[in-house]
Order: sequence, then C-alpha cells, then structure tokens
Amino acid sequence: MKNKIAIKLIAYFSATLLIFSIIIGGIFMSLFKNSTIQIQKKDLENRALTIADTISELMGGSLSFGNGMQGGMMGMGGMNQSLGSYVRNLDDIAMADVWIVDENLNLLTIGAMAKMQYMYSDLPEDADVVVKDVFNGNTTFSEGFSELLEKPTLTIGTPIVSDNEIIGALLIHSPVEGMNAAVNDGFKMLAVSIVIALILSIILSVALAVSFTKPLKTMKNTALILAEGNYSAKTGISQNDEIGELASTIDILSQRLEKASHESEILHKQRQDFITNISHELRTPVTVIRGSLEAICDGVVKDTKQVKEYHEQMLNESKSLERLVNDLFEISRLQNADFKIEMQELNICDVLNDAVRSASNIARNKNINIDLKLDKDVFITKGDYGRLRQMFLIVIDNAIKFSPENSTINLSLYNNKVTVQDEGIGISKDDMPYIFNRYYRVKSVENKTGTGLGLTIAQQIANRHNVKLSVASEQNVGTSFMFEFS
Ligand code: ADP
Repeated sequence: MKNKIAIKLIAYFSATLLIFSIIIGGIFMSLFKNSTIQIQKKDLENRALTIADTISELMGGSLSFGNGMQGGMMGMGGMNQSLGSYVRNLDDIAMADVWIVDENLNLLTIGAMAKMQYMYSDLPEDADVVVKDVFNGNTTFSEGFSELLEKPTLTIGTPIVSDNEIIGALLIHSPVEGMNAAVNDGFKMLAVSIVIALILSIILSVALAVSFTKPLKTMKNTALILAEGNYSAKTGISQNDEIGELASTIDILSQRLEKASHESEILHKQRQDFITNISHELRTPVTVIRGSLEAICDGVVKDTKQVKEYHEQMLNESKSLERLVNDLFEISRLQNADFKIEMQELNICDVLNDAVRSASNIARNKNINIDLKLDKDVFITKGDYGRLRQMFLIVIDNAIKFSPENSTINLSLYNNKVTVQDEGIGISKDDMPYIFNRYYRVKSVENKTGTGLGLTIAQQIANRHNVKLSVASEQNVGTSFMFEFS
C-alpha cells in the first residue's frame, strides 16, 4: 500500500459518514414513524368525533339503540330514517370498519361486522377496557383488535352522547397497512439517499485524501533530495495551514543548508589557500637560511665580512620565521573557544599610552607624528592588558607602515571609542572585504615584511573583549580603524 494516509483518511471518512447516516437515519425514521402514526391517529380521531357528533344530532336525543346485538338490530328498526341510512353507510363514510357497541360490548350497528358471527369470547381482552374507557367519556386508541380482524388494525373508541348521557361507543377500526407502507416507503427512500450520499462522499473523500497527501509526498521527495546533498531543492508548496508551515520550514532548512554548504566551501578554500600561503611563507626564509648555510659550509663564502652579512641575513629570516610562527600560534589560541584569556580591570588610557610609546620608535624612523588625544585620563574596562596592547600596536604599526614620511597619525579616545586615523595609502574597495581574513595582505612596496596575520589577530582580540572593530578608508587619503568598547 503506497498511499497509506490517503487510505486511512478514506476509511475514517467513510466510517464516520456511515455512523452519521445510521444515527441520523434511525432518528429520522423514528420521528417519521411517530409523526405518521400521530397524523393517522389525529385523522381517525377527527373522523370518529365527527361521526359520533352526527349520530348524536340525528338521534335528536330521543332514540336509543336498544339492548343486545339482536336488540340492536331491532333497535335499528326504531331509528328515524336519516339516522338509519347514515348508520348503514357508516363504513363508507368512515372509510373503515365501524362498530357501535353498548356498555356490554353488544354490537348495535350493521356493517361489515354485522355479517360476522363472533362470540363474545373472541373479543380481545382490552375491548372491555376500551369500551369502559369510552363510557367514562374518553376517546381512546387500541391495537388489540388486530387478531380478531386478522390484520394489523388501529381502533379508536369515542362516546356517542345523547341528552348528556353516553348511550354507545363508536369504534372505528382502521387498518394500519397503509401507514406501514408509508413508513416503509420512507425507509426505502432514506436508504437509497444514504447509499447515494455514501457513494458521492467516498468519491469526494478520495479526491480530498489525494489532494491532502500530495504536498506530503512532495515534502518527502524534497527531504530525500536534501538528504542526497542537493540543498537547492525546495518544496514550492504555499499553503496557509500546518502542512504549509511544515513545507516552509523544510524550505528554510534547505536555505540554511545551502548557505552553510556555501560557507563551508569558502572555508575549505580559505583553509587550502592558507596552507598554500603558509607553506610558501615558511619555505622562503627556510630556503634563504639553508642557502646561506650551504654557502658557508661549502666554503663558497669565506670572506669574514661576507660571512657576517650571511649570518645577519639568517638572523633576520629566523626572526621573521619566529614572528610568523608566533602569530600563527596566537591566532590558533585565540580562535580556540576553550582557551581562556585572563580578564582583569585595567585602564585603556594606560594601554594606549604604552602602545604609542612602543610604536614611536618605528614612527620616528619615518618622522611620523603620533598625536594621542584622550577625552579622559581613566577609562576602566576588563581585559588582558598585553593582548589589548598588541591589538592597538598592530593597527598603529600598520598605520605607520602604510603612511608617508612626515605625516601624522591621530589616535583618540572619545567616550568609549578609540580611533586610529592615518594619512596613508588607504585600502581599495576590492581589498576592503578581505583585510581581516587570515593571511590576506596587499603586496606593495610599503608591505614587504607583512605576514597578513596582524589584523586577523587584532580582530580575534577585539572579539574576545566584546570590542566592535570597524574600518573606513579612502585610497590615497587615509584609513581609520575604530574600536568601540561595550
Ligand atoms: P600585514 O601583515 O600585511 O600588515 P594585516 O592583516 O595587518 O597584514 O593587514 C592586511 C592588509 O590590510 C595589509 O596587507 C594592507 O593591505 C591592509 N591594511 C591594513 N592596515 C592598513 C592601513 N592603515 N592602510 C592601508 N592598508 C592597510
């Protein structure tokens, strides 16, 4: 079974509809039957009352039916003419079998029953009860005559009154076959309607179930495609319900996976670039050192002055190697979330003064003036003194490196913001997005010794201290680095 949900939905829907139809059908049939019986009874009662009234009127209060069956027959002879013919035609008038009986259940009228020979003992048990009830002045119903009349019959009994005296009981026996036939017809019609409704509903439920499960199938297929690693897959479902919400959640998931996969690709490429670059950077000084050493060892370089020059070159290369390795070590430590840096209360003004003091030596070589302006003497924050000093030094060093001789570097502390502004070569728009990347550096005359790790370290230190580091630059005008303390 492939579409299990659809099958279940159809089954649930059909079962619910069937139960609903049975209950509604049952209630309807019972109400319909009761109402049909009530209508029939009302009709019978009206007929009975009219006949009883007419008989009373025709009797004019003077006549009696006489006593006993035979007496009744004789008594009929004493009736006036119109009453006689009325009574004779009672069955036709009432459209049913009509009896007029006295208190002792003696039949007084002619009619269908007049031809029947029946014994008193044949009369149903409740005939007595009915007649008694009628002689007590009530109109009453009974189904007890059915057996005697050999068909299901509803009998109504009503008193015939003359001179305020009940002189007889009018019993009308109406066969209930017609009534049952009406009820049966009603039942058949109801059953046919229910079957038709069920068939139509099942067709509708199939269509509904299929349209309901269609988006689920689409989502399943999309999830499978995502699982295979194709993160561009989307459900494309737009519905304003829970299914729609689920579909858009899958779409959001696919978007995020796509973004993450893209980022991971970039990271992978950056890592590869980094390894290529770092290998190159390590190889250059190592090659120089090895070449110099070989030249000395092979005796190619013998002159003491030349040997000294070679030694100095090797020392410089070793220093640059050391700086590179230290920077790499520092970056890897700062990027490691488990590596905790020591945070203690310190005065940023002290850190800035210290950094400027250290940088002023190099600045002096280029006759660059570092102008430090502090809007206060004390700006306390929590941090690692050495690393914050290193962070400012990296940016001040760069400012010196990329500034022309005799220029000024403005260093200021205003509110909680430190700005290092130079009048140097600036950074091009193309380079700007990458300057904080590991190992990114612009190779230029000013930047012969750069490793491309300085700003990466500065950014890491800033992150660790919740400092927002930003940059603004214009080529050939200058660059500003801003450190915003929280
Ligand atoms: P580097 O070792 O090359 O200085 P950094 O990470 O410190 O590495 O800087 C990355 C690049 O950002 C530099 O190569 C340079 O192109 C650019 N840069 C940094 N600071 C400045 C500045 N003040 N003026 C111009 N360019 C700068």
